[in-house]
Amino acid sequence: MIDFGSGRFAPSPTGDLHVGNLRTALASWLDCRSRGAPWLVRFEDLDQAVATVEAGERQLQQLAALGMEPDVQPLWQSRQPDRYTSPIDSLVASGRTYPCYCSRREIREAIAAAVNAPNGPESGLYPGTCAALGSSERARRAQFRPPALRFRSDQPAVDFHDDNFGAQSFMVDDFVIRRNDGVPAYNLVVVVDDNAAAVGSVVRADDLLSSTARQILVGEALGYPVPRYAHVPLVVNADGVRLSKRDRSITLDDLAADGVSAGEVLERLAVSMGVAAVGERPSAADLVDRWGSVHVTGWRNTWPLVAT
Ligand SMILES: [Zn+2]
Repeated sequence: MIDFGSGRFAPSPTGDLHVGNLRTALASWLDCRSRGAPWLVRFEDLDQAVATVEAGERQLQQLAALGMEPDVQPLWQSRQPDRYTSPIDSLVASGRTYPCYCSRREIREAIAAAVNAPNGPESGLYPGTCAALGSSERARRAQFRPPALRFRSDQPAVDFHDDNFGAQSFMVDDFVIRRNDGVPAYNLVVVVDDNAAAVGSVVRADDLLSSTARQILVGEALGYPVPRYAHVPLVVNADGVRLSKRDRSITLDDLAADGVSAGEVLERLAVSMGVAAVGERPSAADLVDRWGSVHVTGWRNTWPLVAT
């Protein structure tokens, strides 16, 4: 068994976990348990407008209800905001960043106007408006707006291997690593925190596949080893749309009220992943030896995940 180091589940503590979140957590937990590696929980709570400690504590209880408990105390990003300062400073010092004074609207307009840009207006990629501003123009624009900080990608596309989805290639723009309110941005904090916790195996939902390209670039610029990536499919509703708070009966509390126990939820998740049979009622620990590695081909991804 290859030693990839720790793995993690990194939810935003903004509400109860739903069955899709729980399945992603289970995949990450099984990845770690099957390798004898530590499993960590990290709360991505830097956006203090929506994250709460209460929601995080409830999420830990929901993970525990399915048999998943982290091996060390969970990390709350907001409690150690200074951990991102020195990585950002080193990227600035090495010339890999520039300040961006654009408002959201200016970025939208610049993208729409970038018909001659290599990526065209459909890409939605930041067209580099502020990449080459002179110092006097920066000083002028700073009077109106504090800047965000962008990472200079220096390349149009990033290729990488995903253990489930195979060869990947994504266009990358110069993306924000510190927002203009001073809060470190997602694609920076993920990389810093994974490296600090020796996370070498990133098992997470496939809506983050395209972010992986950006995170690899930041990690390489910081001199970090690139982790192994294994993205897993999202659970979707009957319309094929990823589950969200608009969908009913997808949290453990709601399902319990409908007479569906946590044990039955775990069974449905396990059946959908091809590691249990209907009616078997396995514990999470029962699934570890069946995991081996992640094989997402053939997973059933539409809630309620079992044939009805
Ligand atoms: Zn800009």
